[in-house]
Amino acid sequence: MQRRDFITSAALGATALALNACHREEEAVQADSANINKARKVTLKLATSWPAHFPIMGTGVDKFASRCAELSGGTLEIKVYPKNILVPALQVFDATSAAQIDAFHSGVYYWKGKNSAFSIFGGMPLGFTSEEMITWLKFGGGYALWRELYGKFNLYPLVGGTTGPQMGGWFKKQINSLADLQGLKMRIPGLAGEVMERLGVNPVLLPAGDIYTALERGTIDATEWVGPALDNMMGFPKVAPYYYTGWHEPGSILELTFNKTRWEKLSPQHQAIITAASEEMTSNMLQEFRYENAKAFQSLSSIVEIKTFPKEVIDAAQKALGDVLAHESAQNEDFRRVLKSYETFSKLNKPWDDISTRNFLEIRG
Ligand code: CA
Repeated sequence: MQRRDFITSAALGATALALNACHREEEAVQADSANINKARKVTLKLATSWPAHFPIMGTGVDKFASRCAELSGGTLEIKVYPKNILVPALQVFDATSAAQIDAFHSGVYYWKGKNSAFSIFGGMPLGFTSEEMITWLKFGGGYALWRELYGKFNLYPLVGGTTGPQMGGWFKKQINSLADLQGLKMRIPGLAGEVMERLGVNPVLLPAGDIYTALERGTIDATEWVGPALDNMMGFPKVAPYYYTGWHEPGSILELTFNKTRWEKLSPQHQAIITAASEEMTSNMLQEFRYENAKAFQSLSSIVEIKTFPKEVIDAAQKALGDVLAHESAQNEDFRRVLKSYETFSKLNKPWDDISTRNFLEIRG
């Protein structure tokens, strides 16, 4: 071998060695970060009150889970279990409180039996719209109270979507007066159920999967659910011809609630990812509800009769709501405090809302 060739090949050899070393270092770094991710990987079990991939509400949770995986680079896995797989639909609150599961997605109004004050966090009949609810929770002190009261059940709540304005429900016969409500069996939860009870209705609490059969078989005479898109999918137009406009759920909040101890053990990064993904889920769900409801209403409005409750029914509901709120406030100090916060924001919000949104909608016509 010539001296020059020897030097060249020695130099090449050295370069190859150096490159190899570089490569190994890079691989080691990648392996390290994979190991760190593996070591840091957190898996949370989340149960919902909805059937698997239930449109908008269920698929919203599915998207939330994949966003958590994506934003965390795979270190945060949220396993979503539809209703009745790990726990029955309406036992998700207790199961999360007892740390049998890590989290749940459901409707806040289901838990009024735990503490009547909870129903206010889910929304108020004849009260705030979705945008107003979220504003109250985030800026008007609602979240602080919600977290304080859920804290007693070792739970940490986040808003997990909102429905926008809901329809008043499906009725087998027309409601032309207060007398028509007497003895009516209706699936209607939360504060609205209490209001209806004072108007002579027998309110029933049923989870999603049981409502259609109950209405079809006449176990109930009426039901509210959500709005045109989901109501249509539930098949209600087939079993009840009258579809009433809404008053009782102008902006219902869904919840994404964690076991508090589990939440506090999460890294600040994972907490931030969940919080951001839940906000994304909330705005996506509101927009999806608006779009899908508008589409479904277009086809529904020609096959069912759209009705509005008579003024005497709405006036009586307004009065009964006042009585329910006064009664609950007298019974439950928590309810009184939450209602006071809600009303404080209402007083602040209303004059501005009247002059901005309401005025504009009237001008736009
Ligand atoms: Ca509803």
